[in-house]
Amino acid sequence: MPSASRAAKRQCLSCITRCSVHENDPPHPEPDPEPDHERGFATRALRTGHVRTAEGEHCEPIFTTSSFVFASAAEAAARFAGEVPGNIYSRFTNPTVRAFEQRLAALEGGAACVATASGMSAILATCMGLLKAGDHLVASRSLFGSTSMLFDKYLARFGVETSYVDLTDLEAWAAAIRPQTRLLFLETPSNPLTEMAEIAPLADLAHTHDCLLAVDNCFSTPALQRPLAYGADLVIHSATKYLDGQGRCVGGAVVGDAKHVGEDVFGVVRTTGPSMSPFNAWLFLKGLETLELRMQAHCMAAQALARWLDAQPAVQRVHYPGLAAHPQRHLVGPERQQRAGGGIVAFEVAGGREAAWRVIDATRLCSITANLGDTKTTITHPASTTHGRLSPEARASAGIGEGLIRVAVGLECIEDIQADLARGLDAPS
Ligand SMILES: *Cc1c(COP(=O)(O)O)cnc(C)c1O
Repeated sequence: MPSASRAAKRQCLSCITRCSVHENDPPHPEPDPEPDHERGFATRALRTGHVRTAEGEHCEPIFTTSSFVFASAAEAAARFAGEVPGNIYSRFTNPTVRAFEQRLAALEGGAACVATASGMSAILATCMGLLKAGDHLVASRSLFGSTSMLFDKYLARFGVETSYVDLTDLEAWAAAIRPQTRLLFLETPSNPLTEMAEIAPLADLAHTHDCLLAVDNCFSTPALQRPLAYGADLVIHSATKYLDGQGRCVGGAVVGDAKHVGEDVFGVVRTTGPSMSPFNAWLFLKGLETLELRMQAHCMAAQALARWLDAQPAVQRVHYPGLAAHPQRHLVGPERQQRAGGGIVAFEVAGGREAAWRVIDATRLCSITANLGDTKTTITHPASTTHGRLSPEARASAGIGEGLIRVAVGLECIEDIQADLARGLDAPS
C-alpha cells in the first residue's frame, strides 16, 4: 500500500469519530485492504488487523467503550442510515473485535469474519442467518454435544429439520440431501474419535445441490487446515479452544464470504447481540500470535503420546490422525487437507468405565476437565461427560465406549504426561 494512504488510514483511526477519510474504507467486516494474502501465515497472525492510532502504540489497544461519539447530528444520522461506515455501538462493531476478525479472516483465507460471544453463538448466528422455517440441514453424526442439542431441540422448534449421517460416508451425505436442504455441517476431525471427512468432495456435493458447506474447524485451526481452500463456504470456530489456547475465555467466530458472513451472519449478531467483548477479542488476538507455534508443539507432543500409548499393553486402541493405522491417514501431511495430526488423542482401555476412571483418577498432572486446546493437558471420559447425554445405544453406534479416554495434549514435558498416564495404566486391576 502506498505510504500516503497508510498515513491517511492512521489519521483516520486516530480521529475515529469525525473523519472523512474513513468514508472511503470498505464497510465492516471486510478485512484491511493491505495485501495480506501475499504474506506468510505467521506474519498475518502477528500483524493483520491492527491499525495504529495517533498514540503510536505497538500492542493492539483494547477499546473498552460501549458506544462511539459522532461529530454532529447529521453524521449520527448518516451512520445510522448506513450511508457512512464507522462505529456506532459495540454490539455492532468495535475496533478491537474488528482487529481479531480481520486477523482470523486473513488466516482462514476468507473475505469476512464475524466474532461472537462463544462457539455456540457462532453456530446459532450461522443457522439464523442462513436458514428459515422449512429448510433442512444435513450434519455429521459425531458432533459436539451442544451443537446437536441446538439442532435437535431449538432449530427444530423453529421448523428447521436436521438429518445426521456418518461423517466419512460421502454416499450417505448425498442420499440425505432433499430439495429443502440448504446447509451441510460437519466437524473434521471428529470429537473424540478423530475421524476425518474429505472436504473437497463434500463442498462439490453441497454446491451441486445449491447448498452451503460449513466446517467447524475448532480442532485443527487454520494453522493445520483451511477448509475454505477446499471449497467450504463457512468456517466456524470456538475461539475458546486453540485460538485462545490458554484456557482464559469463551468466544467464537464465523469466517466466509462478504454476503453470507459479512451480511447475513453479521446482521444476526448485530441485531440479536451475541457479540464478542473487546477484552476477549484482545486475548484472542494475543492467542493468534502464537497459534502456529503452539499447534506445531501440540502436534509433536500428541504424535509422541499416540505412539507411546500404542505400545502400552493396557491400551487396546489409539485414535490419532498421525498414526499409520488411522483410516484417513492419507488426508494428513504437509500440502494435504490437514497439515499434521492435531493435539487430540483418544484411546481405549480394557475393563470399561472402571478401568478408564482408574487411569483418569491416577493422574496428578493432567487436568480432569472437558475443555481442550489449552497449553495444559486435559483428560476426560467422553461416555460420562461430553457424550453422557446420549443414550447408551447412540453412544455405542457412535463408537464411544466406556473404556474410551480423550487427552487434549498440552505443552508440558511429554515425559511427564506419559508418566502421569502410566500410573493408571500400570495399576493392577
Ligand atoms: C467447544 C466446541 C464448540 C462450542 O464452543 P463454545 O465456545 O464452548 O461455545 C463447538 N464445536 C466444537 C468442536 C467444540 O469443541
